Amino acid sequence: MKNYRMETKCVQGGYRPGNGEPRQIPIVQSTTFKYESSADMGKLFDLEASGYFYSRLQNPTCDTVAAKICEMEGGTAAMLTSSGQAANFYTVFNIANCGDHVIASSAIYGGTYNLFAVTMKKMGIEFTFVQPHATKEELQAAFRPNTKAVFGETIANPALNVLDIETFAEVAHANGVPLIIDNTFATPIHCRPFEWGADIVTHSTTKYMDGHGAAVGGCIVDSGNFDWKAHAEKFPGLCTPDDSYHGITYVERFGKEGAFITKATAQLMRDFGSTPSPQSAFILNLGLESLHVRMKRHFENALAVATYLEKHEKISWVRFPSLPSDSEYAFAQKYMPNGTCGVISFGVKGGREAAERFMGQLRIAAIETHVADARSCCLHPASATHRQMSDAELTAAGVSPDLVRLSCGLENSEDLIEDIAAALETI
Ligand SMILES: *Cc1c(COP(=O)(O)O)cnc(C)c1O
Repeated sequence: MKNYRMETKCVQGGYRPGNGEPRQIPIVQSTTFKYESSADMGKLFDLEASGYFYSRLQNPTCDTVAAKICEMEGGTAAMLTSSGQAANFYTVFNIANCGDHVIASSAIYGGTYNLFAVTMKKMGIEFTFVQPHATKEELQAAFRPNTKAVFGETIANPALNVLDIETFAEVAHANGVPLIIDNTFATPIHCRPFEWGADIVTHSTTKYMDGHGAAVGGCIVDSGNFDWKAHAEKFPGLCTPDDSYHGITYVERFGKEGAFITKATAQLMRDFGSTPSPQSAFILNLGLESLHVRMKRHFENALAVATYLEKHEKISWVRFPSLPSDSEYAFAQKYMPNGTCGVISFGVKGGREAAERFMGQLRIAAIETHVADARSCCLHPASATHRQMSDAELTAAGVSPDLVRLSCGLENSEDLIEDIAAALETI
């Protein structure tokens, strides 16, 4: 499908039925697969033949949907995971072990920050956090001899900073390590990080890709560009024999196009088992079929709402990377000239109480810990996700007490604006 344009890949990627086969992707709701001989099955366990034997490792429905996302991102191999958290954990843990170090942007999803700074730290992996617009010199200064990867988000959730992907890629490569990009908020419709030098892309498919608040999921895509063998001393897991698979060496056997995903499937999915259900993969695929249509509308609605809010006397500030007045605008235009996402954040004059009162008056956007849904939703982090923090701590974390995060859905933008106007009237 490489030669088709994005819209065609969204609808038809990953699956080409043969004569008389189902037009829609089959849901292979089976934990296990039948073989004629033990020798046939043994080949699968030695990774000598490809095929299915147990759905904890691989399932045909999940692989079909992973193949579609792979085509959309322009990669060479991909796998689905049961959540975005699992995707980011597997991606980093596939190349960084106890005693290693990773550099990450400080503007990332709170769940990912916690995974890195708390949970993976307990596993002996250290993280250094740098600004999303760090200069080459600042990035270089964060490197150590045991650094194994650089990580960032295209558009940070919820801070909405735009990562300087090209600079991050350049410095990562100069130090012989890959750049991992969480592309959840932009989706491949608005940004394809591989085109800017990223090596591996991750997604929380729970957000825009599913897009209907129906299925939690994640995805990992490999560009196939990173030359693990050229830095073999840094990546022994990919470049030396794996005793748990009869001494196979992933880069020798699967090349730089397939080694990373094969290792993550064969070792991490085998041992941790964060696999999605075939049913969830099917639901995700329904979302992918309309992703290109929906992203355009999410973005248009958010731009209309942000433009309205920016001029409103009861609003103290607005953050939306595609607003010309926004400090992220230049990066947004460079990496995402056709649009960013549907999420905006803003401050309501009157602080915490005014923000809470305003949200309580909205009739279309519901209060939810979610974003990127067809239905608009909003969250007041100071009284929800960041509730345990004092106002001073909130400000230090970049989440001011008056901050409202609004995820613009697919409703009519004039209805959204009228609803917001009526709610602002009451405060
Ligand atoms: C939600 C989110 C995650 C975590 O994904 P889950 O599917 O909730 O596990 C990771 N990264 C980003 C940018 C997210 O928005």
